[in-house]
Amino acid sequence: ERLVGAGADGEDQAVEAALRPKDLGEFIGQAKVREQLDLVLRAARARGSAADHVLLSGAPGLGKTTLSMIIAAEMDAPIRITSGPAIQHAGDLAAILSSLQEGEVLFLDEIHRMSRPAEEMLYMAMEDYRVDVIVGKGPGATAIPLELPAFTLVGATTRAGLLPPPLRDRFGFTAHMEYYEPAELEAVIHRSARLLDVSTDAEGAVEIAGRSRGTPRIANRLLRRVRDYAQVKADGVITREIASRALAVYEVDERGLDRLDRGVLHALLKLFGGGPVGLSTLAVAVGEERETVEEVAEPFLVREGLLARTPRGRVATPAAWAHLGLVPPVSPQQ
Ligand code: ADP
Repeated sequence: ERLVGAGADGEDQAVEAALRPKDLGEFIGQAKVREQLDLVLRAARARGSAADHVLLSGAPGLGKTTLSMIIAAEMDAPIRITSGPAIQHAGDLAAILSSLQEGEVLFLDEIHRMSRPAEEMLYMAMEDYRVDVIVGKGPGATAIPLELPAFTLVGATTRAGLLPPPLRDRFGFTAHMEYYEPAELEAVIHRSARLLDVSTDAEGAVEIAGRSRGTPRIANRLLRRVRDYAQVKADGVITREIASRALAVYEVDERGLDRLDRGVLHALLKLFGGGPVGLSTLAVAVGEERETVEEVAEPFLVREGLLARTPRGRVATPAAWAHLGLVPPVSPQQ
């Protein structure tokens, strides 16, 4: 697993429960989302009804699961957690929906990966708190209507655009989660350090935040690796110097690029003069699969403005040359 990967690994899952903010007040950043959600939840509480269905879109590790738990906590309701890929058949969904309690929050991660029949069942469940369970096959099949308790669906997806419009339209509130600003990540790191009983000075947190790719999950993971280093190689206190030495060991640079990211940039600059070069050629040069370069390395390089995808191929930006400390070649015309 990549240290700077945004998905949760086994260790993350164990520690994340302890690091999750428990209410909206503790949730750092995403000010707009927090303000809007606060209104939605207060209004529902005042009416004494289940909150509107909420769609959370955004990259992995930005706090979608955490927010769904906060919604349940703020509504004083239980929560059930499942994911699109876990729901293969409409029957799986019917079983979950019919066992919900009144007011329960159902968190459906990766909702865009649900099967088609399940998705269609969800439409009616969201709108009317009702499902039709089909019993039998062929001409003898009958639909048995089933009343459901009022519940709140919290759907999570990497991009709202991945959802079919009829599903998207059934959410009363859609929140788009942005990558976090460095100052917000510093606050996440200070908070987590307190909970993990680690001491970090301000500069140490700045150093870790700068390498966290705008993502709290990565910030928390880097913090744990730096803590190990501080305990083994120093007095346990995280300073700028310690953070930077620790993350050098793990080959995560000042901007959060790891070995793979730098390998791609390096090949693009040194072997192809900054491009344009085709994806397949670039992948062969770094000894990786096309998909790995395209889906694992490139999105962050593009987001950081280090690489551009053009119709003629991949091109390095001036920032890429500067980041690797290289000088771009002077073209003959100049
Ligand atoms: P997602 O569901 O979007 O993949 P999670 O909700 O699982 O992300 O969050 C990943 C980790 O980051 C958790 O440990 C969580 O505590 C932390 N985290 C996410 N957002 C915040 C935030 N706004 N403030 C503090 N910690 C956060």
